[in-house]
Amino acid sequence: MVVEKIESTLALVKPDAFDNTENIITIIKRNGFVISERQVVTLSKERAAQFYEEHKERSFYDDLTTFMSSGPTLALVLRKADAITSWRQLMGPTNSDKARKEAPDSIRAKFGTDGSKNATHGSDSPQSAAREIAFFFPEYQHSSEFNGQDVREYLTK
Ligand code: GDP
Ligand code: MG
Repeated sequence: MVVEKIESTLALVKPDAFDNTENIITIIKRNGFVISERQVVTLSKERAAQFYEEHKERSFYDDLTTFMSSGPTLALVLRKADAITSWRQLMGPTNSDKARKEAPDSIRAKFGTDGSKNATHGSDSPQSAAREIAFFFPEYQHSSEFNGQDVREYLTK
């Protein structure tokens, strides 16, 4: 028997695509993801800065955190086999203009604005998934869905 490794990842629908939430959720479900958690939140500039802390030395950090605090964001926990890679594949390249050239069917191509306002976020590793899920859903690590998953080990290190 093949046992698939079910992963959880954090997805955000960013403020520039918030009005397209229903369309994006339709695509998410059509691609076999289960939405285990959802929450609408308007981030403060400080919370946005904390979320994107890894980019604090980058020139675009201030623009990014201003954008991310400019309106509502939808935070989702998505689950399926290989969810982290699979969701990033479905989002497409970081820059929406590049996505429209290279991956026209991707979510960032369809719903993103430019190189910064790019519709969605997805965790890039099991470690970031664990951190980012806990950032929005601190109780999730205690849920039965989270237990038994490989990402759990990254929370206890
Ligand atoms: P991601 O993991 O594909 O979202 O990309 P990164 O982690 O590298 O960057 C985080 C976010 O910062 C991106 O999703 C964009 O919103 C923004 N960003 C990344 N690179 C640039 C850039 O070169 N210029 C600007 N203005 N924003 C950027
Ligand atoms: Mg990233």
